[in-house]
Formats: sequence, structure tokens, C-alpha cells
Amino acid sequence: MRYAILSDIHSNLEALNAVLEVLGTEAIDKHLCLGDVVGYGADPSACLSALQERDTLVVGGNHDLACVGKLPSDWFHSAARQAIDWTRRQLSVSDVDYLRRLPLTAIEGPLSLAHGTLQRPERFEYLLDLAAAWESVSICTTLMCLVGHTHLPRVVECDRRARRFNRVVTSSTELGEVAFRDDAALCYIVNPGSVGQPRDGDPRASFAIIDTDRRQVAVRRVAYDIKTAQQKIRRAGLPEFLAARLAVGR
Ligand code: ZN
Repeated sequence: MRYAILSDIHSNLEALNAVLEVLGTEAIDKHLCLGDVVGYGADPSACLSALQERDTLVVGGNHDLACVGKLPSDWFHSAARQAIDWTRRQLSVSDVDYLRRLPLTAIEGPLSLAHGTLQRPERFEYLLDLAAAWESVSICTTLMCLVGHTHLPRVVECDRRARRFNRVVTSSTELGEVAFRDDAALCYIVNPGSVGQPRDGDPRASFAIIDTDRRQVAVRRVAYDIKTAQQKIRRAGLPEFLAARLAVGR
């Protein structure tokens, strides 16, 4: 199986389309999305439609829930809150219905999905340190635990029996091709980075392909039309910061 892993699209249709164009040439069997389809950018409805057209399995992110009143907006900083209020006014009835039904976790074959962490998905914590990573690993019942939310791509290999981390891969060259083993003692945490608002200093859209036959995780980057995405954010009257940050990937 070849899985496409997308996360944190954040209503950035230009970035999403660039990623989907690449994926169109990649013989993908199943599309998965780790949440935050909406929030920050200017095309929430179109991004939701593009995922639904591909029958994508999506788990809800904090922005997705906040936009449909399932999470209080005082969880967010002011620019995010403004974008949430704006997004609410753009969503159709069926968009709202779709977002309200998103599960917080899901399992697809050897992959467990959550936006923040597997252990407390409803709290949208950031899986940034190894202690939090270990908590996810210890309750993960599949080979891989896929998370987003930090907008930082990485692959962590953990040995469940020895209770140690074998590898933490964060460099973009290494992330381009990470081999994995299908071994019950191992668990892999995979964050594909963010499609629509990368924060690792590389402004290109980030996503991953997991190939279970070749046993490989590949985090890929693709350039997209940042100028158009920025113009739409400015025209919508959203905070300038949300447009500016796209160019620097922070
Ligand atoms: Zn996000």
C-alpha cells in the first residue's frame, strides 16, 4: 500500500493543489489527513472539497473543531482567533457538518492517526519532546503513530521492548528516504510537516508518502504559488502576519 499523509493544510489551496498534483503521479492507494484542514488561509471550503473528492480519511485538528464551535476560541492567539471567526463565515452547511463529524483518532492498516498526541487527542498537545513521544508509543497498537500539529516534519524510531529511541530523523535530506522495519518491537512516530504553513524554515509545502511494500517513509517538499496564497489572505482582510509567514516558512 502507498499512503499519502497530509497535515495542517490550513485553508491554503495553492499549497494543497501543488501537493495533490505530485501525488497524482505517485500511484497512491489512500489519502490520510492529520487535521487542521482549515484556519489561517483563505480557501477553507475548497480545501475540504479536495480532500472529500479523494475520499481522504481525516482526523480533526484544533482549528477544525474551533471553526464549528467544538473548541473554545480562547484557546487561540489573536491572529488565529480572527482567522477562525472569518473561516466560520465562509463554511457551507455541509462543510460544518463534515467538520463536526471528524473523529479525533483513527486507525488505517498499520497506521494510527491523531492531530496532537495519541494519548490525549482532545487536548491538542504538541508532540515535541521524547517524553510525550514515549507516551504515544506506549499506547500505540500499530506499527506507526502519525501526528501533525507542530508543523515540523520528523520520523522517530522507538524500540518498545528496550524502551529506547533508536533514531530521530529531522534533516530534510534524511527525511526524503527513511527505511522502516515491520517489527512488533518497533514503533515509528511520523510527522509529515505542514502542507499549508510550514514552520521549519523551508517555505515549500511538506507531506509524506508511506510505502508499506518498499518499507519506506518519504517526506517530500514541493514549491507552490506562495504569492497567490498571500494575496488571497490579504484580500480577505486576515492578519498580515498570516500572509507574511508563508514566504519564510516560520
Ligand atoms: Zn496546525
